[in-house]
Amino acid sequence: MSKSLFADASSRLEKALGYISISEDSLKRLKYPKTSLSVSIPVRMDDGSLQVFQGYRVRYDDTRGPGKGGVRYHPNVSLDEVQSLAFWMTFKGALLNLPFGGAKGGITVNPKELSRQELERLSRGYIDAIADFIGPDIDILAPDVYTNEMIMGWMMDQYSIIKRRISPGVVTGKPLTMGGSQGRTSATAMGAFYAINAILAKFSQLPPQTTVAIQGFGNVGGILAELLAKVGYKVVAVSDSQGGIYSSHGLDIPSIRQYKKEGYPMKAVYCAKSVCNIVEHETITNAQLLTLDVDVLIPAALENQITAANAGDIQAKYIFEVANGPTTSAADEILDQKGIYVFPDILINAGGVTVSYFEWVQNRSGLYWTLTEVNERLKERMIAETEQTWNIAQQHSVSLRTAAYIHALNRLGEALDAKGTRDYYIKG
Ligand code: NAD
Repeated sequence: MSKSLFADASSRLEKALGYISISEDSLKRLKYPKTSLSVSIPVRMDDGSLQVFQGYRVRYDDTRGPGKGGVRYHPNVSLDEVQSLAFWMTFKGALLNLPFGGAKGGITVNPKELSRQELERLSRGYIDAIADFIGPDIDILAPDVYTNEMIMGWMMDQYSIIKRRISPGVVTGKPLTMGGSQGRTSATAMGAFYAINAILAKFSQLPPQTTVAIQGFGNVGGILAELLAKVGYKVVAVSDSQGGIYSSHGLDIPSIRQYKKEGYPMKAVYCAKSVCNIVEHETITNAQLLTLDVDVLIPAALENQITAANAGDIQAKYIFEVANGPTTSAADEILDQKGIYVFPDILINAGGVTVSYFEWVQNRSGLYWTLTEVNERLKERMIAETEQTWNIAQQHSVSLRTAAYIHALNRLGEALDAKGTRDYYIKG
């Protein structure tokens, strides 16, 4: 039987253990999610029928603060996946030194098959089911795959109705008019952009000489493609769930984003208007995109995309994990042997949770920041933690992933130990 996603995710801890001093008690605690909630959500469909959906909310650890993590709507959502995502959130929060634990939620659904009204009833039903387990001081939600600002607004509203008080701090990634933060929608892409620039500069890999392929053209992948192209990186390939497009001359990213917004699938967008006459291009599969001969590969879709089956064919020199968990541990070994640098998800995509933290702070203080303030604070934090992770990797001659876990585990271990360990009680 193949390893579960969660078993594979948590195996990443093992490598970091040789480099930190964490008590056995604390380590034991971190191997299990604190709370895993499974709920059924009955929804009245537009045709009058009743459909029951399966939902989850996992709070993995809340030693450093309330649980924090997104909600995913996808047909493949399972408890195993949500636990893994909650595990990554725990380490991401610690890595960025945020006062949060890790959590995640999801509903097993294909949202593209629901009307907007059905989607609203489902989202409000999910909050009805988990309301007693979340809250601004308990566990805070956010967007993830196939959820967005509108859905976050419904969720915050439903929670406020249940609690009979306006509670903006229970959800981040809300519309600006409901207490959202400037810069939250672009935060994950922006954070990745700051980290990528800082890292590539260390290799003297400058934008005009750098070709980039991006898998996934959603909220994160689409915005990141545009940010990279704007400063001169040559984005030669992008894809969505239906497939991708490639041009060795570099793609016209703003036009592709515009056509995607108008609802064209990636295969069609590039030729739907006149752009295909300007730049020669070809259609490719998602599998082909991953093995293109490019400098930088950015998985920005779903987990388990780079596996033992295709890692040997990867040609990129640098992989920046914008998606959560796109590389399996077996693939990591192969990439390492090939000398490919992998910059891990818990660092590269941490901009989202960082600006979620800023949003939560603004909701609690009632004082709202400008976009410039948000981005400056994000940049400062992303670069500081990227540098620290880089230095740990150099110091111990370990991969960037192991360095990120060492850095996060040190902070988590310290917080867990402060609550009291076996040594503390026995030695008095
Ligand atoms: P999204 O729903 O906006 O976009 C997902 C994209 O992936 C879409 O372009 C979709 O077509 C594509 N996709 C779906 N299935 C695919 C497949 N099998 N092959 C290739 N592409 C496929 O989601 P998002 O918010 O951009 O999230 C993308 C990734 O980034 C996820 O792994 C998510 O967990 C991670 N992430 C998101 C945030 C955030 O703030 N939104 C923060 C941290 C991490």
